Amino acid sequence: MRAFDYSRADSTAGAVAAGAPDSATFIAGGTNLLDLMKLQVMTPESVVDITRLDLGQIEETEEGGLRIGALVTNSDLAADMRVRRGWPVLSKALLAGASGQLRNKATTGGNLLQRTRCYYFYDTDALCNKRTPGTGCAAIGGATRLHAILGASEHCIATHPSDMAVAMRALDAVVEVEGPDGTRDIPLEDLHCLPGDTPHVETVLQPGELIVAVRLPAPVGGGQVYRKVRDRSSYAFALVSVAAVVTMDAGRIANAAIACGGIAPKPWRMAEVDAALAGAEPTDDSFAKAADILLADATGHGDNDFKIDLTRRTLIAALGQACAEASA
Ligand code: SF4
Repeated sequence: MRAFDYSRADSTAGAVAAGAPDSATFIAGGTNLLDLMKLQVMTPESVVDITRLDLGQIEETEEGGLRIGALVTNSDLAADMRVRRGWPVLSKALLAGASGQLRNKATTGGNLLQRTRCYYFYDTDALCNKRTPGTGCAAIGGATRLHAILGASEHCIATHPSDMAVAMRALDAVVEVEGPDGTRDIPLEDLHCLPGDTPHVETVLQPGELIVAVRLPAPVGGGQVYRKVRDRSSYAFALVSVAAVVTMDAGRIANAAIACGGIAPKPWRMAEVDAALAGAEPTDDSFAKAADILLADATGHGDNDFKIDLTRRTLIAALGQACAEASA
């Protein structure tokens, strides 16, 4: 690990000021950042510790939703009874991620900003446009089991690794940010960037901008399923995951919000998929049509070709379960 300056922020404004230089980074749980620094994948000149900030509450909003402080740990969020009752897909997704020890340290803000687990990103001897822009992508033509089938580019085919973010994407979460120019809201769908020809630019956050909270709208009820397929039954990133939030009316799907993980550079949700399901009967045919829409542009890269069929089957299974729960 390279030497770096360490400071501990005692206010959000102080954190924002200290984090403004390009060479600075925030640390909270550190469950991803410390690994990256030890491997010298990330070599910040200064690290701003935000763990003492007052961002650890979960509060109900006037609109009936929830405001989750950026420092709420994944364990506390998963266990919160309001979350388990009103937004159960979020609790399920959190519990499907990482390990108990990691969830005790990992925070809501940090989870959103964790970096890809592309093998080559972590190997400083490998070519990687995300780590060192313009050098190439060792994954293309290499080992791609964990890589994207949607949203990738010729410069990067990495996936976003979060489970939590996939559920939040299905729940229409909004990210609250404080920065040098004040505060702003960013819909989660706009937080993460597609790689295009700048895969090192992963979010729309500007230097010094700090995630302070995530807001969820009021509960929608219905069936809420998080189905994750991975190489081990715990402590493994998704090969494919599906967050399905479905409400039913008179035997038909009233509304569906479907987001996928493990297959794209950001939590993947398509309005066309949700629209195709709205008003449909809860049958395998309807689910298969939604899968056709979701996967129309899917492209495998060799090792991960299997993800196209796996995503189809996972979506169909998740929808069947969510519709059954919503009908019960
Ligand atoms: Fe780097 Fe992206 Fe290629 Fe992985 S897929 S080696 S993160 S450029």
